[in-house]
Amino acid sequence: MSDAATQTTDLAPFVDAVTTARTEGRQLVVRGGGSVLDRLPPTEAEVVSTAGLTGVIDHRPEDLVVTVRAGTPIAEVEALLAAHGQECPIEPLAGHGSTVGGRIATALAGPRQLQAGRVRDWLLRVRLVTGEGKVTTAGGVTVKDVTGYDLCRLVSGSWGSVGIVAEVTLKLRPIPPRSAWFTTDRPAFAVLSELYRPAAVVTTPEGTFVHLEEHPDDLLAQATAAGLEAADPPRWPTTARAALDPARLAELTSWAPTAGLAYAGFEGVGVCLLDGTSEALAAAGAQVDSLGGRLLVLDGGATPVPWRPPPEDAMAERVRAALDPHRTLLAPRTPR
Ligand SMILES: Cc1cc2nc3c(=O)[nH]c(=O)nc-3n(C[C@H](O)[C@H](O)[C@H](O)COP(=O)(O)OP(=O)(O)OC[C@H]3O[C@@H](n4cnc5c(N)ncnc54)[C@H](O)[C@@H]3O)c2cc1C
Repeated sequence: MSDAATQTTDLAPFVDAVTTARTEGRQLVVRGGGSVLDRLPPTEAEVVSTAGLTGVIDHRPEDLVVTVRAGTPIAEVEALLAAHGQECPIEPLAGHGSTVGGRIATALAGPRQLQAGRVRDWLLRVRLVTGEGKVTTAGGVTVKDVTGYDLCRLVSGSWGSVGIVAEVTLKLRPIPPRSAWFTTDRPAFAVLSELYRPAAVVTTPEGTFVHLEEHPDDLLAQATAAGLEAADPPRWPTTARAALDPARLAELTSWAPTAGLAYAGFEGVGVCLLDGTSEALAAAGAQVDSLGGRLLVLDGGATPVPWRPPPEDAMAERVRAALDPHRTLLAPRTPR
């Protein structure tokens, strides 16, 4: 663990890379661990890696706060926090080697979002290099520290287009006294109405999986009352990821088997992970469109599903125009 804050001089290579690219009219894409980026269609943009920007800067167990450099692998931070009985419940479901910065930049919802909330809810402070090559800090450890625009929320889910995240401060919580996975053949809606704040409820072809986190006695009492059986967690599909209105998730999970797709639908979150042939995934794309959602296909090279950029988002465009007028930083999902 390092207790020295990231100095502006440590960020000089990133400032230089952005400033030079902007002057020369080139584009940059930020790479963390590459667990998602390396599986997306390649772009012409030059890659800036955060591999050298690692280390835990400050962990204050008594305040439930940790500050880390963005290129630090999530697994490293998790191990440090676990030794103090703490966690930041923004779990990366897949993505071996994924970094804290990548997790914030993608902000993909995990099944535990049902109870734990979104990635941005755990982000207190962020230090970043903007598309103009400026080093800026936003947010604060206490609410009173926060002034100006809420850049933390803009960075979360920005896919690298708002700035290079250099350092983040995350809110923590104690690890629940006991957590366990259960399964049942009852439908998710029946289970959800009987459980008090389940951590995750996931619909799969093998049945409904439930993750409970609480005091051991309460956990057992809930599981027994809802007729749940102890189980390993479900297998997570890794090829594609649909995001849609949680109220329409059941329409997707009941359609998926008819197309021969393996699926894991996060109830109450509106996310469904999918595996299948390229034909089945192309059909899933059309199905998710018709339900008003978006399908993100990872492994586009291995399964040649047509790449469809997300629809233009006017507000995101205005934010990017303000923070990166020359469009130096490219989100991999956004064509120029
Ligand atoms: C198939 C698959 C499905 C997944 N689904 C889920 C899910 O449903 N729920 C969940 O919780 N997790 C999910 N994850 C895991 C997780 O969201 C990512 O794997 C991981 O956090 C990305 O980290 P990375 O360092 O590998 O990022 P990269 O793959 O390197 O980059 C991903 C994106 O983040 C940007 N980025 C990376 N670092 C920075 C930085 N420092 N500053 C600015 N931008 C940056 C990149 O430009 C790129 O746009 C999934 C992973 C995979 C592979």
